[in-house]
Amino acid sequence: MKYYLSFLLLVVAALARKQPESKMAPPGINQLATQYVRLALDIGRYDSSFVDAYYGSDSLQPSATKKATFSKDSFLLEVQHLQDALGQLLLQTTNDTIQKRATWMKAQLTAFGRRIKIYSGEYASFDAESMDLYSVAAPVYPETHYQALVAQLDTLLQGKGTVQERFQLLCNRFIIPKAKLDTVFHAAIAECRKRTLHHYTLPANENFMLQFVSDKPWSGYNWYKGNYQSLIQINTDLQIFIDRAIDVGTHESYPGHHVYNMLLEKNLYHDKGWVEISLYPLFSPQSLIAEGSANYGIDLVFPGNDKIAFCKDVLLPLAGLDTTGISIYFKAQAIKGQLKFARNEVGRGIINKTMDTPTTMRWLKDYCLMNEETAKKSIRFINVNRSYVINYNYGMELIKNYMEAKAGGAADADKRWEAFGVLLSNPVLPSDLLKASK
Ligand SMILES: [Zn+2]
Repeated sequence: MKYYLSFLLLVVAALARKQPESKMAPPGINQLATQYVRLALDIGRYDSSFVDAYYGSDSLQPSATKKATFSKDSFLLEVQHLQDALGQLLLQTTNDTIQKRATWMKAQLTAFGRRIKIYSGEYASFDAESMDLYSVAAPVYPETHYQALVAQLDTLLQGKGTVQERFQLLCNRFIIPKAKLDTVFHAAIAECRKRTLHHYTLPANENFMLQFVSDKPWSGYNWYKGNYQSLIQINTDLQIFIDRAIDVGTHESYPGHHVYNMLLEKNLYHDKGWVEISLYPLFSPQSLIAEGSANYGIDLVFPGNDKIAFCKDVLLPLAGLDTTGISIYFKAQAIKGQLKFARNEVGRGIINKTMDTPTTMRWLKDYCLMNEETAKKSIRFINVNRSYVINYNYGMELIKNYMEAKAGGAADADKRWEAFGVLLSNPVLPSDLLKASK
Protein backbone atom coordinates (compact mmCIF):
# COMPACT_ATOMS: atom_id res chain seq x y z
CA MET A 1 0.00 0.00 0.00
CA LYS A 2 2.82 2.29 0.96
CA TYR A 3 4.46 1.72 -2.44
CA TYR A 4 1.23 2.35 -4.28
CA LEU A 5 0.75 5.69 -2.53
CA SER A 6 4.32 6.79 -3.14
CA PHE A 7 3.95 5.81 -6.82
CA LEU A 8 0.80 7.92 -7.01
CA LEU A 9 2.61 10.84 -5.40
CA LEU A 10 5.41 10.54 -7.97
CA VAL A 11 2.90 10.57 -10.85
CA VAL A 12 1.12 13.59 -9.40
CA ALA A 13 4.44 15.37 -8.87
CA ALA A 14 5.56 14.57 -12.45
CA LEU A 15 2.29 15.88 -13.89
CA ALA A 16 2.56 19.01 -11.78
CA ARG A 17 6.08 19.61 -13.12
CA LYS A 18 5.06 19.14 -16.75
CA GLN A 19 2.03 21.40 -16.58
CA PRO A 20 2.36 24.10 -13.95
CA GLU A 21 -0.97 25.03 -12.37
CA SER A 22 -0.64 28.65 -13.48
CA LYS A 23 -0.51 27.62 -17.16
CA MET A 24 -3.44 25.19 -16.94
CA ALA A 25 -5.74 27.42 -14.93
CA PRO A 26 -7.69 30.34 -16.38
CA PRO A 27 -6.50 33.47 -14.58
CA GLY A 28 -8.09 34.01 -11.25
CA ILE A 29 -7.95 31.12 -8.84
CA ASN A 30 -4.35 31.63 -7.72
CA GLN A 31 -4.85 35.38 -7.27
CA LEU A 32 -8.01 34.72 -5.27
CA ALA A 33 -6.20 32.13 -3.17
CA THR A 34 -3.53 34.72 -2.39
CA GLN A 35 -6.19 37.25 -1.37
CA TYR A 36 -7.81 34.59 0.82
CA VAL A 37 -4.53 34.02 2.68
CA ARG A 38 -3.79 37.77 2.99
CA LEU A 39 -7.27 38.39 4.41
CA ALA A 40 -6.94 35.58 6.98
CA LEU A 41 -3.52 36.83 8.08
CA ASP A 42 -4.90 40.35 8.44
CA ILE A 43 -7.83 39.18 10.61
CA GLY A 44 -5.35 37.04 12.56
CA ARG A 45 -3.46 40.21 13.63
CA TYR A 46 -6.47 41.02 15.84
CA ASP A 47 -8.08 37.64 16.56
CA SER A 48 -5.18 35.55 17.86
CA SER A 49 -7.14 32.26 17.52
CA PHE A 50 -8.11 32.86 13.90
CA VAL A 51 -5.04 31.34 12.22
CA ASP A 52 -4.17 27.95 13.64
CA ALA A 53 -1.24 27.32 11.29
CA TYR A 54 0.51 29.21 8.51
CA TYR A 55 3.59 28.01 6.67
CA GLY A 56 3.32 30.03 3.46
CA SER A 57 5.45 32.93 2.28
CA ASP A 58 6.20 35.86 4.61
CA SER A 59 5.50 38.14 1.65
CA LEU A 60 1.75 37.56 2.15
CA GLN A 61 1.82 38.97 5.68
CA PRO A 62 -0.04 42.30 5.77
CA SER A 63 2.24 45.28 5.24
CA ALA A 64 -0.17 48.06 6.19
CA THR A 65 -0.02 49.31 9.75
CA LYS A 66 -2.47 47.62 12.04
CA LYS A 67 -5.43 49.86 12.81
CA ALA A 68 -6.18 50.57 16.46
CA THR A 69 -9.60 48.92 16.28
CA PHE A 70 -10.92 45.78 14.60
CA SER A 71 -12.93 46.89 11.61
CA LYS A 72 -15.80 44.41 11.49
CA ASP A 73 -17.63 45.99 8.56
CA SER A 74 -14.62 46.35 6.28
CA PHE A 75 -13.51 42.76 6.96
CA LEU A 76 -17.05 41.51 6.24
CA LEU A 77 -17.01 43.48 3.00
CA GLU A 78 -13.71 41.90 2.00
CA VAL A 79 -15.15 38.44 2.70
CA GLN A 80 -18.18 39.28 0.55
CA HIS A 81 -16.07 40.56 -2.37
CA LEU A 82 -13.88 37.49 -2.32
CA GLN A 83 -16.88 35.16 -2.19
CA ASP A 84 -18.49 37.04 -5.11
CA ALA A 85 -15.28 36.75 -7.16
CA LEU A 86 -15.09 33.01 -6.43
CA GLY A 87 -18.77 32.70 -7.35
CA GLN A 88 -18.05 34.43 -10.70
CA LEU A 89 -15.16 32.09 -11.35
CA LEU A 90 -17.37 29.09 -10.61
CA LEU A 91 -19.87 30.31 -13.22
CA GLN A 92 -17.14 30.69 -15.85
CA THR A 93 -15.10 27.52 -15.39
CA THR A 94 -15.64 23.87 -16.21
CA ASN A 95 -12.22 22.91 -14.82
CA ASP A 96 -12.74 20.40 -11.97
CA THR A 97 -9.68 21.52 -10.03
CA ILE A 98 -10.67 25.17 -10.10
CA GLN A 99 -14.23 24.30 -9.13
CA LYS A 100 -12.98 22.26 -6.20
CA ARG A 101 -10.65 25.01 -4.96
CA ALA A 102 -13.18 27.81 -5.42
CA THR A 103 -16.01 25.87 -3.73
CA TRP A 104 -13.75 25.03 -0.81
CA MET A 105 -12.58 28.63 -0.31
CA LYS A 106 -16.17 29.93 -0.57
CA ALA A 107 -17.25 27.65 2.29
CA GLN A 108 -14.20 28.59 4.34
CA LEU A 109 -15.02 32.28 3.79
CA THR A 110 -18.56 31.82 5.16
CA ALA A 111 -16.80 30.72 8.34
CA PHE A 112 -14.54 33.82 8.21
CA GLY A 113 -17.68 35.99 8.14
CA ARG A 114 -19.22 34.27 11.15
CA ARG A 115 -15.99 34.37 13.13
CA ILE A 116 -15.54 38.10 12.39
CA LYS A 117 -19.00 38.67 13.89
CA ILE A 118 -18.27 36.51 16.94
CA TYR A 119 -14.99 38.33 17.53
CA SER A 120 -16.95 41.61 17.41
CA GLY A 121 -19.48 40.35 19.97
CA GLU A 122 -22.31 39.64 17.52
CA TYR A 123 -23.68 36.19 18.29
CA ALA A 124 -26.09 33.76 16.61
CA SER A 125 -27.72 30.60 17.97
CA PHE A 126 -25.54 27.50 18.47
CA ASP A 127 -26.82 25.75 15.32
CA ALA A 128 -26.78 28.86 13.10
CA GLU A 129 -23.21 29.49 14.25
CA SER A 130 -22.04 25.92 13.56
CA MET A 131 -23.75 25.96 10.12
CA ASP A 132 -21.64 28.98 9.14
CA LEU A 133 -18.43 27.87 10.84
CA TYR A 134 -18.46 24.13 10.12
CA SER A 135 -21.18 23.79 7.43
CA VAL A 136 -23.31 21.48 9.61
CA ALA A 137 -25.62 21.51 12.63
CA ALA A 138 -25.21 18.58 15.02
CA PRO A 139 -28.26 16.42 15.76
CA VAL A 140 -30.21 17.13 18.96
CA TYR A 141 -30.83 14.19 21.28
CA PRO A 142 -33.30 14.29 24.18
CA GLU A 143 -32.12 13.71 27.76
CA THR A 144 -33.65 10.19 27.64
CA HIS A 145 -31.11 9.22 24.94
CA TYR A 146 -28.26 9.90 27.37
CA GLN A 147 -30.10 8.29 30.28
CA ALA A 148 -30.32 5.06 28.24
CA LEU A 149 -26.57 5.11 27.63
CA VAL A 150 -25.86 5.73 31.32
CA ALA A 151 -28.14 2.74 32.10
CA GLN A 152 -25.82 0.58 29.94
CA LEU A 153 -22.89 1.74 32.07
CA ASP A 154 -24.88 0.98 35.20
CA THR A 155 -25.14 -2.66 34.08
CA LEU A 156 -21.47 -2.84 33.09
CA LEU A 157 -19.94 -1.34 36.23
CA GLN A 158 -20.12 -3.45 39.39
CA GLY A 159 -20.03 -2.17 42.96
CA LYS A 160 -21.71 0.42 45.17
CA GLY A 161 -22.38 4.11 44.60
CA THR A 162 -23.73 6.06 41.64
CA VAL A 163 -22.73 5.14 38.08
CA GLN A 164 -20.55 8.25 37.98
CA GLU A 165 -18.78 7.25 41.22
CA ARG A 166 -18.20 3.69 39.97
CA PHE A 167 -16.92 5.02 36.65
CA GLN A 168 -14.55 7.40 38.44
CA LEU A 169 -13.26 4.60 40.69
CA LEU A 170 -12.50 2.47 37.64
CA CYS A 171 -10.75 5.35 35.87
CA ASN A 172 -8.65 6.14 38.93
CA ARG A 173 -6.88 2.79 38.52
CA PHE A 174 -5.40 4.03 35.26
CA ILE A 175 -3.98 7.44 36.12
CA ILE A 176 -0.49 7.81 34.64
CA PRO A 177 1.94 8.96 37.37
CA LYS A 178 3.40 12.38 36.43
CA ALA A 179 6.96 11.01 36.41
CA LYS A 180 5.99 8.42 33.79
CA LEU A 181 4.07 10.71 31.44
CA ASP A 182 6.93 11.42 29.05
CA THR A 183 7.94 7.73 28.69
CA VAL A 184 4.35 6.50 28.23
CA PHE A 185 3.40 9.21 25.72
CA HIS A 186 6.56 8.71 23.64
CA ALA A 187 5.95 4.96 23.53
CA ALA A 188 2.35 5.49 22.39
CA ILE A 189 3.34 7.99 19.69
CA ALA A 190 6.14 5.68 18.46
CA GLU A 191 3.70 2.80 18.03
CA CYS A 192 1.15 4.95 16.19
CA ARG A 193 3.91 6.30 13.94
CA LYS A 194 5.15 2.77 13.17
CA ARG A 195 1.65 1.59 12.27
CA THR A 196 1.00 4.67 10.09
CA LEU A 197 4.34 4.31 8.27
CA HIS A 198 3.31 0.79 7.36
CA HIS A 199 0.68 2.35 5.08
CA TYR A 200 1.94 5.85 4.17
CA THR A 201 5.22 7.27 2.96
CA LEU A 202 5.73 10.43 5.01
CA PRO A 203 8.27 13.21 4.29
CA ALA A 204 11.76 12.09 5.37
CA ASN A 205 12.35 15.07 7.70
CA GLU A 206 8.94 14.85 9.44
CA ASN A 207 9.15 15.23 13.20
CA PHE A 208 7.35 16.42 16.32
CA MET A 209 8.18 17.85 19.72
CA LEU A 210 6.22 16.84 22.82
CA GLN A 211 5.76 19.35 25.64
CA PHE A 212 3.87 19.23 28.92
CA VAL A 213 2.18 22.53 29.82
CA SER A 214 -0.40 23.85 32.29
CA ASP A 215 -3.25 26.34 32.65
CA LYS A 216 -4.86 25.85 29.21
CA PRO A 217 -8.55 25.51 28.25
CA TRP A 218 -7.77 22.37 26.19
CA SER A 219 -6.32 18.99 27.17
CA GLY A 220 -3.95 18.66 24.22
CA TYR A 221 -2.97 20.70 21.15
CA ASN A 222 -1.06 20.18 17.95
CA TRP A 223 0.62 23.35 16.72
CA TYR A 224 1.62 22.62 13.15
CA LYS A 225 4.75 24.59 12.26
CA GLY A 226 5.09 23.72 8.56
CA ASN A 227 7.95 21.88 6.87
CA TYR A 228 6.45 18.69 8.39
CA GLN A 229 7.08 19.67 12.03
CA SER A 230 4.55 19.71 14.89
CA LEU A 231 4.67 20.94 18.45
CA ILE A 232 2.37 18.73 20.52
CA GLN A 233 1.41 20.17 23.91
CA ILE A 234 -0.28 18.21 26.67
CA ASN A 235 -2.06 20.01 29.48
CA THR A 236 -1.19 18.53 32.86
CA ASP A 237 -3.74 20.57 34.87
CA LEU A 238 -5.93 17.49 35.25
CA GLN A 239 -5.14 13.85 35.96
CA ILE A 240 -4.14 11.98 32.80
CA PHE A 241 -5.59 8.52 32.23
CA ILE A 242 -3.95 5.77 30.18
CA ASP A 243 -6.24 6.15 27.13
CA ARG A 244 -5.00 9.75 26.77
CA ALA A 245 -1.63 8.35 25.68
CA ILE A 246 -3.33 6.50 22.85
CA ASP A 247 -5.39 9.57 22.04
CA VAL A 248 -2.30 11.78 21.83
CA GLY A 249 -0.44 9.18 19.75
CA THR A 250 -3.28 8.96 17.24
CA HIS A 251 -5.46 12.11 17.42
CA GLU A 252 -2.67 14.68 17.77
CA SER A 253 0.00 12.77 15.88
CA TYR A 254 -0.26 9.68 13.65
CA PRO A 255 -2.49 9.59 11.60
CA GLY A 256 -4.24 12.58 13.22
CA HIS A 257 -3.37 16.29 13.09
CA HIS A 258 0.36 15.91 12.41
CA VAL A 259 -0.19 13.58 9.42
CA TYR A 260 -3.23 15.52 8.12
CA ASN A 261 -1.29 18.78 8.03
CA MET A 262 1.75 17.12 6.44
CA LEU A 263 -0.25 15.43 3.67
CA LEU A 264 -1.97 18.72 2.83
CA GLU A 265 1.34 20.61 2.84
CA LYS A 266 3.12 18.01 0.71
CA ASN A 267 0.40 17.08 -1.81
CA LEU A 268 -1.43 20.38 -2.26
CA TYR A 269 0.89 23.21 -1.25
CA HIS A 270 4.34 22.01 -2.37
CA ASP A 271 3.40 19.68 -5.23
CA LYS A 272 0.50 21.67 -6.69
CA GLY A 273 1.16 25.18 -5.40
CA TRP A 274 -2.28 25.71 -3.85
CA VAL A 275 -1.53 28.75 -1.71
CA GLU A 276 -4.81 28.62 0.26
CA ILE A 277 -3.74 25.34 1.88
CA SER A 278 -0.75 26.98 3.61
CA LEU A 279 -3.12 28.63 6.08
CA TYR A 280 -5.37 26.71 8.45
CA PRO A 281 -8.17 28.87 9.91
CA LEU A 282 -9.22 27.31 13.21
CA PHE A 283 -12.92 28.17 13.16
CA SER A 284 -13.72 26.77 9.71
CA PRO A 285 -15.09 23.63 8.01
CA GLN A 286 -11.50 22.40 7.87
CA SER A 287 -11.67 21.81 11.63
CA LEU A 288 -14.62 19.44 11.30
CA ILE A 289 -12.51 17.35 8.92
CA ALA A 290 -9.42 17.68 11.14
CA GLU A 291 -11.06 16.77 14.47
CA GLY A 292 -13.37 14.14 12.99
CA SER A 293 -10.57 12.38 11.12
CA ALA A 294 -8.20 12.64 14.10
CA ASN A 295 -10.77 10.87 16.29
CA TYR A 296 -11.58 8.31 13.61
CA GLY A 297 -7.85 7.59 13.26
CA ILE A 298 -7.80 5.96 16.71
CA ASP A 299 -9.82 3.00 15.44
CA LEU A 300 -7.79 2.88 12.24
CA VAL A 301 -4.51 2.49 14.13
CA PHE A 302 -5.94 0.18 16.79
CA PRO A 303 -8.80 -1.80 15.24
CA GLY A 304 -10.81 -4.26 17.34
CA ASN A 305 -9.06 -5.21 20.56
CA ASP A 306 -5.64 -3.82 19.52
CA LYS A 307 -6.01 -0.83 21.83
CA ILE A 308 -6.61 -3.03 24.89
CA ALA A 309 -3.75 -5.37 23.93
CA PHE A 310 -1.29 -2.50 23.43
CA CYS A 311 -2.29 -0.94 26.75
CA LYS A 312 -1.95 -4.24 28.58
CA ASP A 313 1.33 -5.29 26.99
CA VAL A 314 3.15 -1.98 26.72
CA LEU A 315 1.63 1.18 28.18
CA LEU A 316 0.38 0.00 31.58
CA PRO A 317 3.66 -1.82 32.44
CA LEU A 318 5.58 1.33 31.39
CA ALA A 319 3.35 3.42 33.64
CA GLY A 320 3.86 0.91 36.47
CA LEU A 321 0.10 0.22 36.64
CA ASP A 322 -1.85 -2.99 37.15
CA THR A 323 -3.77 -4.24 34.09
CA THR A 324 -6.77 -5.62 36.01
CA GLY A 325 -10.02 -4.10 34.74
CA ILE A 326 -8.57 -2.61 31.55
CA SER A 327 -11.07 -4.46 29.28
CA ILE A 328 -14.06 -3.11 31.24
CA TYR A 329 -12.40 0.31 31.27
CA PHE A 330 -12.31 0.41 27.47
CA LYS A 331 -15.89 -0.91 27.23
CA ALA A 332 -16.95 1.93 29.54
CA GLN A 333 -14.90 4.39 27.45
CA ALA A 334 -16.76 3.24 24.31
CA ILE A 335 -20.10 4.10 25.95
CA LYS A 336 -18.60 7.37 27.17
CA GLY A 337 -17.70 8.05 23.52
CA GLN A 338 -21.38 7.97 22.57
CA LEU A 339 -22.16 10.18 25.55
CA LYS A 340 -19.85 12.87 24.14
CA PHE A 341 -22.77 14.24 22.12
CA ALA A 342 -24.14 15.47 25.45
CA ARG A 343 -21.44 18.16 25.37
CA ASN A 344 -23.21 19.58 22.29
CA GLU A 345 -26.39 19.98 24.36
CA VAL A 346 -24.38 21.76 27.05
CA GLY A 347 -22.87 23.97 24.32
CA ARG A 348 -26.34 24.73 22.99
CA GLY A 349 -27.52 25.47 26.53
CA ILE A 350 -24.65 27.89 27.20
CA ILE A 351 -24.64 29.64 23.81
CA ASN A 352 -28.45 29.83 23.51
CA LYS A 353 -28.70 30.78 27.23
CA THR A 354 -31.24 28.01 27.85
CA MET A 355 -29.25 26.27 30.63
CA ASP A 356 -28.08 27.87 33.87
CA THR A 357 -24.72 26.94 35.41
CA PRO A 358 -26.07 24.27 37.83
CA THR A 359 -27.85 22.57 34.88
CA THR A 360 -24.73 22.59 32.68
CA MET A 361 -22.71 21.14 35.58
CA ARG A 362 -25.36 18.44 36.13
CA TRP A 363 -25.31 17.45 32.43
CA LEU A 364 -21.51 17.34 32.32
CA LYS A 365 -21.36 15.20 35.47
CA ASP A 366 -24.36 12.94 34.82
CA TYR A 367 -23.99 12.40 31.07
CA CYS A 368 -20.40 13.31 30.17
CA LEU A 369 -19.19 11.51 33.34
CA MET A 370 -16.96 14.40 34.31
CA ASN A 371 -15.84 15.18 37.84
CA GLU A 372 -16.15 18.71 39.28
CA GLU A 373 -12.81 20.01 37.97
CA THR A 374 -13.17 18.48 34.48
CA ALA A 375 -16.69 19.86 34.17
CA LYS A 376 -15.48 23.37 35.06
CA LYS A 377 -12.69 22.99 32.48
CA SER A 378 -15.21 21.92 29.88
CA ILE A 379 -17.36 25.00 30.51
CA ARG A 380 -14.25 27.13 30.10
CA PHE A 381 -13.54 25.36 26.77
CA ILE A 382 -17.10 25.97 25.52
CA ASN A 383 -17.00 29.63 26.52
CA VAL A 384 -13.82 30.07 24.48
CA ASN A 385 -14.48 27.76 21.53
CA ARG A 386 -18.31 27.68 21.49
CA SER A 387 -19.82 25.38 18.82
CA TYR A 388 -16.35 23.95 18.03
CA VAL A 389 -17.30 21.03 20.34
CA ILE A 390 -19.40 19.39 17.60
CA ASN A 391 -16.28 18.76 15.49
CA TYR A 392 -15.07 16.04 17.88
CA ASN A 393 -18.23 13.93 18.06
CA TYR A 394 -20.44 14.82 15.08
CA GLY A 395 -17.32 15.37 12.94
CA MET A 396 -16.15 11.87 13.80
CA GLU A 397 -19.58 10.40 13.02
CA LEU A 398 -19.59 12.06 9.59
CA ILE A 399 -16.05 10.82 8.86
CA LYS A 400 -17.00 7.32 10.03
CA ASN A 401 -20.05 7.22 7.73
CA TYR A 402 -17.95 8.54 4.85
CA MET A 403 -15.23 5.96 5.46
CA GLU A 404 -17.74 3.13 5.63
CA ALA A 405 -19.27 4.27 2.33
CA LYS A 406 -15.82 4.49 0.70
CA ALA A 407 -14.01 1.53 2.24
CA GLY A 408 -16.55 -0.70 3.98
CA GLY A 409 -16.03 -1.96 7.52
CA ALA A 410 -12.83 -2.84 9.33
CA ALA A 411 -12.12 -6.01 7.34
CA ASP A 412 -9.88 -4.58 4.62
CA ALA A 413 -7.27 -2.52 6.46
CA ASP A 414 -5.37 -1.49 3.30
CA LYS A 415 -8.53 -0.18 1.69
CA ARG A 416 -9.40 1.84 4.80
CA TRP A 417 -5.94 3.39 5.04
CA GLU A 418 -5.99 4.23 1.34
CA ALA A 419 -9.41 5.94 1.53
CA PHE A 420 -8.29 7.78 4.67
CA GLY A 421 -5.12 8.96 2.88
CA VAL A 422 -7.22 10.41 0.04
CA LEU A 423 -9.45 12.18 2.59
CA LEU A 424 -6.42 13.72 4.34
CA SER A 425 -4.80 14.83 1.06
CA ASN A 426 -7.66 16.81 -0.47
CA PRO A 427 -9.72 19.93 0.23
CA VAL A 428 -12.75 18.01 1.49
CA LEU A 429 -15.82 19.84 2.81
CA PRO A 430 -18.42 18.51 5.28
CA SER A 431 -20.93 18.60 2.37
CA ASP A 432 -18.67 16.12 0.49
CA LEU A 433 -18.86 13.78 3.49
CA LEU A 434 -22.66 13.99 3.54
CA LYS A 435 -22.91 13.43 -0.24
CA ALA A 436 -20.61 10.40 -0.21
CA SER A 437 -22.42 8.82 2.75
CA LYS A 438 -25.90 8.92 1.13
ZN1 LIG B 1 -7.78 17.87 17.81
